[in-house]
Amino acid sequence: MQEGKINVQTENIFPIIKKFLYSEHEIFLRELVSNAVDATQKLKTLASLGKYNGDMSDLTIEITLDKKKKTISVKDKGIGMTSEEVDKYINQIAFSSAEEFIKKFKAKSESEMNAIIGHFGLGFYSSFMVSKKVEIITKTYQTRGNTGAVRWECDGSPNYTMDESDKKERGTEVILHVSDDSKDYLEEHKLLEILKKYCKFLPVPIRFGNEKTWEKVEGEKDKDGNDKQVEVEKPRIINNIDPLWKKKPVGLTDEDYKKFYHELYPFSFDDPLFWIHLNVDYPFNLTGILYFPKVKKNLEVQKDKIQLYCNQVFVTDSVEGIVPDFLTLLHGLIDSPDIPLNVSRSYLQGDPNVKKISNHITKKVADKLETLFKDTRPDFEAKWDDIKVFIEYGIISQPEFYDRAKKFCLLKNVDGKYFTFEEYENIVKSSQKDKDGQLIYLYATNREEQYSFIQSVKDRGYDVLLMDGIIEAHFINTLEQKLEKTRFTRVDSDTVDKLIKKEDALPSKLNEDQQKSIKEMIEKQVDPKKYTVSFESLSEKEAPLLITQNEFMRRMKDMAALGGGGGYSFMGEMPENYNLVVNSNHPIVGRLLLEPDGGKQAETIKQIFDLSLLAQNLLKGKELADFIKRSTEKI
Ligand code: ADP
Repeated sequence: MQEGKINVQTENIFPIIKKFLYSEHEIFLRELVSNAVDATQKLKTLASLGKYNGDMSDLTIEITLDKKKKTISVKDKGIGMTSEEVDKYINQIAFSSAEEFIKKFKAKSESEMNAIIGHFGLGFYSSFMVSKKVEIITKTYQTRGNTGAVRWECDGSPNYTMDESDKKERGTEVILHVSDDSKDYLEEHKLLEILKKYCKFLPVPIRFGNEKTWEKVEGEKDKDGNDKQVEVEKPRIINNIDPLWKKKPVGLTDEDYKKFYHELYPFSFDDPLFWIHLNVDYPFNLTGILYFPKVKKNLEVQKDKIQLYCNQVFVTDSVEGIVPDFLTLLHGLIDSPDIPLNVSRSYLQGDPNVKKISNHITKKVADKLETLFKDTRPDFEAKWDDIKVFIEYGIISQPEFYDRAKKFCLLKNVDGKYFTFEEYENIVKSSQKDKDGQLIYLYATNREEQYSFIQSVKDRGYDVLLMDGIIEAHFINTLEQKLEKTRFTRVDSDTVDKLIKKEDALPSKLNEDQQKSIKEMIEKQVDPKKYTVSFESLSEKEAPLLITQNEFMRRMKDMAALGGGGGYSFMGEMPENYNLVVNSNHPIVGRLLLEPDGGKQAETIKQIFDLSLLAQNLLKGKELADFIKRSTEKI
């Protein structure tokens, strides 16, 4: 028997491991199973090179829980280790890196520690986060030289022992004697949950106990004449060793992709809209599948996220900083051995590999969208409402993406027709330029609520876009910066003449005194702080009173409501303010001046004011009920 002291000058490393890996204790299992998978893969490689010809029929890795003995064991049939290898890989290498770790720890802050942890791959030693004692029992695959099995044991102090073992089969078993403060891990459901999270797609079968399933009995029927079924107990294999993203895209069907989507997100019922199969091997290695899901109205409650894998081991589903922000709305997974995985987020963001990967993904997404647009435009249009939020978010947040997306980003008008930016410009450029040569894009955010305004504008022969998406206030702002001499204005932001100012407005037909007295009449009934009264000569066909809302103010308010408005949040606090435009050409307005009865005057104003509120969907509650009552009485 060999006894030794691990060559650590400082105090015990285990309290440090515990302290700094604290938040993610459960990864011990991921690390041990990954090591077991590596050992198995190495054996497969040796066999394929003809350097090993022993039994390879069953390479299943077994996880066993013994609640009585308070142990968890991970057992593989991989290459195993000789005593020299245990000495070299477990005693020396791991501890020397751990020692370095401690030295740095002395000098660094806690946040930097997280970055360091990743560099040292404390892999196997993470088992001490949950164990008071760890045993390794291993036998090498080699048949020549010193091939005896070895038993290594360490109790979390820098002392270890190494001994012979009578293990007969090739491979390694790691036995954790779980410490009292980690006894949660001695629950079957807990282990199953961790295995399902991290090991669901590992390339070697992983068994955890048994499971019960129903099986058909050949040739036998039950009393109802159906195939007879019996309950059988079978080994519970927790992983799919051949996940879809590792396969060649040629030959895969839509059904395959949809099925895999549901395997990845068992609680998601919608099918994805389409997907991108990533497969890069130069200048970095990356595989994966990105799905475009149907986006729910509320972006916050995105429970299904992109998952990050490293050689089929689940690492995290918080990919901020790895993929561009707008793509975090996508689903699916990315698998890359080139992303430094255990390190902190701030470290990741500065990593050149990560930057390259991020750019590559953006490019691939743009390629896919462009192809879909070019090759299957009707289908692309049909999906537009569901995918536009990605594209609009991309355009807002990523200048390089705009350069690609401007070719396929669509604008939809209130009649449900779709246009590219270029197409739309051609449609409106002759009719919707104002007197200063600015192109005015008119839009509505709600077809129903802004109906009367949309109609007036359409009567003029103008086109109206429908901008009813979740982030469109921001999107419009970005477009105004990108598109030349173009301004967006909502159909109800001004009177129809002023929306696209062709010439200076006609002077009001009413003289100053008349305007003054009408203004006084109105302000007796309408709160002048909320409504600013002005006069315009509109067509007689237009309403006598019209409520409009300044485009700039309204848009800023919308952006503030959405959050992330970049300093507009104060706008959410601003009181509502509207323009109340009096159509001085309207006969009802003219009659107000001739009406001697003050009561009647007030009644007329109340009625036309309520009508203007109605047109803007602003008449609510008691006011609306009173209006209905009053109007009914008049019939
Ligand atoms: P890493 O896996 O990052 O190299 P670990 O501390 O997890 O670091 O493991 C150190 C080394 O011990 C491995 O590189 C491997 O050579 C050896 N090892 C660990 N687990 C096994 C195993 N199950 N079978 C064979 N060798 C193993």
